[in-house]
Amino acid sequence: TAYDKAAQSLLNKLIRSNLVNTTNQVEVLQRDPTSPLYSVKSFEELRLKPQLLQGVYAMGFNRPSKIQETALPMMLAEPPQNLIAQSQSGTGKTAAFVLAMLSHVDPENKWPQCLCVSPTYELALQTGKVIEQMGKFYPEVQLVYAIRGNKLERGTKLQEQIVIGTPGTVLDWCQKLKFIDPRKIKVFVLDEADVMIATQGHQDQSIRIQRMLPKTCQMLLFSATFEDTVWNFAKRIVPDPNIIKLKREEETLDTIKQYYVICNSKEEKFQALCNIYGAITIAQAMIFCHTRKTAGWLAGELSREGHQVALLSGEMQVEQRAAVIERFRDGKEKVLVTTNVCARGIDVEQVSVVINFDLPVDKDGNPDNETYLHRIGRTGRFGKRGLAINMVDSRFSMNILNHIEEHFNKKIEKLDTDDLDEIE
Ligand code: ADP
Repeated sequence: TAYDKAAQSLLNKLIRSNLVNTTNQVEVLQRDPTSPLYSVKSFEELRLKPQLLQGVYAMGFNRPSKIQETALPMMLAEPPQNLIAQSQSGTGKTAAFVLAMLSHVDPENKWPQCLCVSPTYELALQTGKVIEQMGKFYPEVQLVYAIRGNKLERGTKLQEQIVIGTPGTVLDWCQKLKFIDPRKIKVFVLDEADVMIATQGHQDQSIRIQRMLPKTCQMLLFSATFEDTVWNFAKRIVPDPNIIKLKREEETLDTIKQYYVICNSKEEKFQALCNIYGAITIAQAMIFCHTRKTAGWLAGELSREGHQVALLSGEMQVEQRAAVIERFRDGKEKVLVTTNVCARGIDVEQVSVVINFDLPVDKDGNPDNETYLHRIGRTGRFGKRGLAINMVDSRFSMNILNHIEEHFNKKIEKLDTDDLDEIE
């Protein structure tokens, strides 16, 4: 559902503390194929305002990411060029369009010049944080959130140069309430297009906003995935676009050591888990359970054993889930227990140990190879080495394990939790 998509996207942003490396090449389709294609290997080449270059370096960025290499020169070109860009979460899209917005602002002009729409309040806030970080040395540039909770007095004329918000409120602020003069907008960004179109109404609102903008306004659209529906929407929002696509890095099990442990009950599985913890040093682990009930029980048992445990559960609100993910990312908790459903689609690259307390199955009870790969797998040659431990507690789950092993044609070795010398 739309809610899940937005939540997933948010949690992925939160859990990720650095760039996704990729070996894939970007695919570029230029609006004018005869014009030369610029790509940059350094931020200096972009001739950014010194305050912005300083902001970029203060964020710890040394060089442009793969997608930024080509996207930034296009976005910063004069005259401005429109762009549709697609790449998986974590590849540097947000940083790129934030830099473009900050570059195009005229701080002397006290009115909105850049408009960025996001599918939800939480996602808008994340982008806002990036604007604040990158614009740290450029305090003349101000930011305002066009979100439902932000009620302004009638007749307000905004002074902030950058507006970031959700489609409905942005539309109201442009049209009904006239806080923003859309004819003065120079850069329009539509972020997370794939999440956006999952919500009925967002698509129409976005198109209605776009129609109020001047022809000269630069239109930029970003998406993590690119189905036909996203593509059709993108073409309506962005006329004469340049297009950049970066293929998702394939996940592999090559750098992962996979084990299984045989147990007879969930209590035995818990005991095995304790043995593993007693035997090896685990910086951070993520543990997957099939049901909410098991996850809750396991989290309780683990904390009784003295572990710092976080529980991510389906009944939690997005903000609660986000808080859990952030604490885990910051290392405040060392173990994250979660259900399959809740963690679906969340990238857990940074976690070195993944434990399947229950094996992943689909709703018919069949082995879910895709989920297994996504949980355990790492991308490309950059992936850290990882350890995966599968808990088997019945003939049924042994069968699932065998299927998974066969599917990937990668050995899953048996582990004796009373004798754990072999794993380290
Ligand atoms: P996306 O919008 O594609 O999900 P982000 O722009 O949020 O990607 O970037 C993902 C992570 O990588 C963020 O933590 C961001 O600070 C970091 N990042 C972005 N660009 C660079 C860069 N050029 N060098 C290093 N880190 C970067």
